[in-house]
Amino acid sequence: MALWKTAYRMLAPGGRRSKLLIFIFHQVLAEPDPLRPYEPDAEQFDWMVQHIARNFSVLPLAEAAARLADGSLPPAAACITFDDGYRNNAELALPILLRHGAVATFFVASSFLGQGRMWNDDLIEAVRQLGSTEVDWHAYGLGAHRLATPADRLQCLETVLPRLKYFPHGERARVARAIARAAGVADESRMMMEADHLARLIAGGMEIGAHTCSHPILSQIGREEARDEIVRGRSELERMTGRPVRLFAYPNGDTRRDLGQRDVDLVRDLGFACAVITDPGFAVAATNPHMLPRFTPWDRTPGRFAMRCAMILAGRL
Ligand SMILES: [Zn+2]
Repeated sequence: MALWKTAYRMLAPGGRRSKLLIFIFHQVLAEPDPLRPYEPDAEQFDWMVQHIARNFSVLPLAEAAARLADGSLPPAAACITFDDGYRNNAELALPILLRHGAVATFFVASSFLGQGRMWNDDLIEAVRQLGSTEVDWHAYGLGAHRLATPADRLQCLETVLPRLKYFPHGERARVARAIARAAGVADESRMMMEADHLARLIAGGMEIGAHTCSHPILSQIGREEARDEIVRGRSELERMTGRPVRLFAYPNGDTRRDLGQRDVDLVRDLGFACAVITDPGFAVAATNPHMLPRFTPWDRTPGRFAMRCAMILAGRL
């Protein structure tokens, strides 16, 4: 293990030549879910955080971004972030983070707090519950799909989720909810955090960041709507937590198609200290603080996870 620490420190020295690695997570599952193969379960998340906490200097994102800019980051600096606001962040991830003494930042889309559910989860739960061996979604422009085996169901999701993702914002939510209802999935959900979970995260020393109100892809909506989503998402979190919210994560966050310079300027002008995207890589002192890249190894064994961290710091993804 000390070997990795040495390697990371060589690849990411501190000070003016710093590299900041920001890990991104969405959920930590109680047990593996064949329909969510990219989300770690608690056991996997535990060894990931253990590895990160032992081998990196884990810092709160706000502090790390400020120190990256002024050249005072320690070697092998890293941040841990979560997007969207899933309940399991507070119930499963938080105790693991605390056990390893690691701080993290949670970007929460405010409109889903409480009983809400995101469009992608509508679709995943629909595919889980459908009893038939095939489904025809041509009426939604989403084709027909076999559901006979677990592999079929995963294939269906991997075909439909990327297509539905780029439907116009309101239509995406409507189609996903219609599909969920037709499959017998209840509208109410216990997947997302409630106000009490935010309080628990803050009491544990974690940071809360904004992630808009209803999670639109900003490049697909007008400037005023984008501004309103960003402002409302922040003010609702500030009202619920009683604290200023200075950090932001762009929904989806891929700079090739999910946000533009307009949105980066908006976030900066609205007073956010820094913002994160989902383009993979590491940040350096010259990186735009409102476009900090994030990366998490998708590997599911500790050795490969560590190797992938080293590869990204070496600039070889
Ligand atoms: Zn998100």
